[in-house]
Amino acid sequence: MAKNKHIENEEQYTGLTVNEGVVQPPSISPYLQRAKRRQFTADEYVAGILRGDISILSQAVTLIESGKPEHQALAQEVIEKCLPYGSKSCRVGITGVPGAGKSSFIETMGMYLVGKGHRLAVLAIDPSSERSKGSILGDKTRMEELSVNPQAFIRPSPSAGSLGGVARKTRETIVLCEAAGFDTIFVETVGVGQSETSVHSMVDFFLLIQLAGTGDELQGIKRGIMEMADGIIINKADGNNIHKANLARIQFQNALQLFPMPESGLRPQVLTCSAREKTGIVEVWDMVENYLSHIRKTGFFEQKRTEQSTRLMYESIDEQLKSHFYSNDQIAKQLKTYENKVRNNEMSSFIAARNLLDEYFSKK
Ligand code: GDP
Repeated sequence: MAKNKHIENEEQYTGLTVNEGVVQPPSISPYLQRAKRRQFTADEYVAGILRGDISILSQAVTLIESGKPEHQALAQEVIEKCLPYGSKSCRVGITGVPGAGKSSFIETMGMYLVGKGHRLAVLAIDPSSERSKGSILGDKTRMEELSVNPQAFIRPSPSAGSLGGVARKTRETIVLCEAAGFDTIFVETVGVGQSETSVHSMVDFFLLIQLAGTGDELQGIKRGIMEMADGIIINKADGNNIHKANLARIQFQNALQLFPMPESGLRPQVLTCSAREKTGIVEVWDMVENYLSHIRKTGFFEQKRTEQSTRLMYESIDEQLKSHFYSNDQIAKQLKTYENKVRNNEMSSFIAARNLLDEYFSKK
């Protein structure tokens, strides 16, 4: 007797019968499955970017963000070819503590700018994503109107890598966005860490968003950030808050008088605005434009960009040496051993570091 496939169906067992199963259809219709996307060549990427094709631009930015060496090589070729088409845009850095209203401000200002015929790219550097993979910036609900506007390109912070790595990728993304015809670039960051310095070193105008609050606004603001700012805005100047916002504006303006004159030769202005009520927005943009036209005339604009490029070269060297070191297999294997020796006081930090570096350089 042919053995039943299911033992439960044999004579000695009574009760339920087990039926033969049926082959399940594939969960996705094979007809709908797309052929694997063909990888573009560098020239195809460049042509797409120069046409202003947002989908190709996004894919090229994904290449920049990829950790794979072959993607990196292709990305570098694309960047190199896009470089001659860049640098005509105006780059604005925007910082402020979480809740200051950065995304609301960018949404309102962004809609104003695209309404004036600008093409705006919004990039972000989020230092929180490095460790936690979560982010303070960049959730999906932000900038609802702007994110669907064809004249805007919004890209959240790359989530992998050190701050140096993330900053480099953002700079490279700026090159591609400029080649794609975006004349205004916003780089947003959270005013809580080192990232402001990175953003400051890649923009023409650095805007600090502040809130009016308890009357001691000036406390708790890192002096360094105030010194970096080319302009300060007090957001949420609406409703009951208008009076407080005006007071804060005067306090900030007075505090800025105590700082040395910035290299640009222009003292930062402090303005109030409301991203929600869309007030003060025109004035803020006028401030940015006046500043830029002034520094273009004085030659400070060019000088600043030249310094930024030079600094970028050194930062890229630092960052790439570091990432090359840590991604070396031999080093990765030994790192933990040395770390344990240092932890257990069996070896000094300096000797451990020197041994690892000797090991690394002997392989070169
Ligand atoms: P971010 O964390 O700096 O990006 O801040 P958000 O843009 O997410 O804003 C934080 C909160 O402040 C949100 O609840 C906003 O609705 C609110 N907000 C932002 N701008 C304004 C404004 O101009 N006026 C008022 N009243 N609330 C605002």
